[in-house]
Amino acid sequence: MTALVIAEHDHTGLKAATLHTISAALACCAEVHVLVAGAACADAAAAAAGIRGVAKVLLADAQHLATGAENLAEQILALAAGYSHILAPATACGKSVLPRVAARLDVAQISEASRVCTPDTFERPVYAGNVVATVQSADAIKVLTVRTTSFEPAAGGGDAVVEAVAPAANRGRSTLLSRQTVSSGRPELSGAGIVVAGGRGLGSAENFKLLDPLADRLGAAIGASRAAVDAGFVPNDWQVGQTGKIVAPRLYIAVGISGAIQHLAGMKESKTIVAINKDPEAPIFAVADYGIVGDLFEIVPQMVAALA
Ligand SMILES: Cc1cc2nc3c(=O)[nH]c(=O)nc-3n(C[C@H](O)[C@H](O)[C@H](O)COP(=O)(O)OP(=O)(O)OC[C@H]3O[C@@H](n4cnc5c(N)ncnc54)[C@H](O)[C@@H]3O)c2cc1C
Repeated sequence: MTALVIAEHDHTGLKAATLHTISAALACCAEVHVLVAGAACADAAAAAAGIRGVAKVLLADAQHLATGAENLAEQILALAAGYSHILAPATACGKSVLPRVAARLDVAQISEASRVCTPDTFERPVYAGNVVATVQSADAIKVLTVRTTSFEPAAGGGDAVVEAVAPAANRGRSTLLSRQTVSSGRPELSGAGIVVAGGRGLGSAENFKLLDPLADRLGAAIGASRAAVDAGFVPNDWQVGQTGKIVAPRLYIAVGISGAIQHLAGMKESKTIVAINKDPEAPIFAVADYGIVGDLFEIVPQMVAALA
């Protein structure tokens, strides 16, 4: 049995989600290959070759492979016959590409696998993480998206071979017109070691900036509840939760967030949770390791001053 991991990369290096997915793949199969598909992405392939446990890196390099899910799915399908497992992180990219692959292979995708029990049996959270389903796949090729926070990142120290593969034909169904990259200077939310998250309790976009100095002092990413996003305080890619990003940092500081079940679904695996809320009955305190009952507009500046 051999697993194929679909790498997420920025052409020069791997995204952290790929490292977690490689660990999941190693729990399925003794032999793991990584597909790096894109344009001018040899450096990302070299980075994949340096991951421990990876036996081979397949490099598919062509301009049209950087343009969207259709062509990437085509590339995976061209290689699929040689694999027992195909895995991608359950990120926006993985969730767009793998269902296309599963449909074309006529297999049932296993979404958000959080544990590999055996090579054909997996656990996955359902009902916003309140139930863990154990699912067994009888399909010849298992197609899985992986809940990255449930697997440790694979370490470096590998020395895999990089093999160029023929790029699959361009399906021509989508064209990349432009790419806008927002650089905040902060760690990427999904992989950050510390997250400071704000909720509706902050009251406005202007007030949300109160979290900046706290995040700066801690070197943290900033996240938000859906209520804060829906109110327009912050962009929607900051949302943590069932319909946002899943995070599991070392430290999660929830500021003015009530702790609705859909929010907890995205952060309750955090190692240490600190909650600041003026309502002592707020559900967030049920999952918090440390709780501060009080007005966030007084407490956050005090924390910033203490950290200085
Ligand atoms: C299908 C579905 C999917 C969803 N997906 C998500 C998701 O992915 N992520 C998500 O977050 N939500 C999600 N939600 C919404 C979720 O149900 C809640 O509505 C949302 O999480 C509430 O956000 P909040 O905690 O910021 O706001 P509220 O629930 O309004 O809480 C605000 C908190 O701030 C506190 N507060 C107010 N002022 C202060 C102050 N001065 N000092 C200290 N504390 C203060 C209040 O006591 C309160 O606890 C989803 C809902 C549905 C139905």
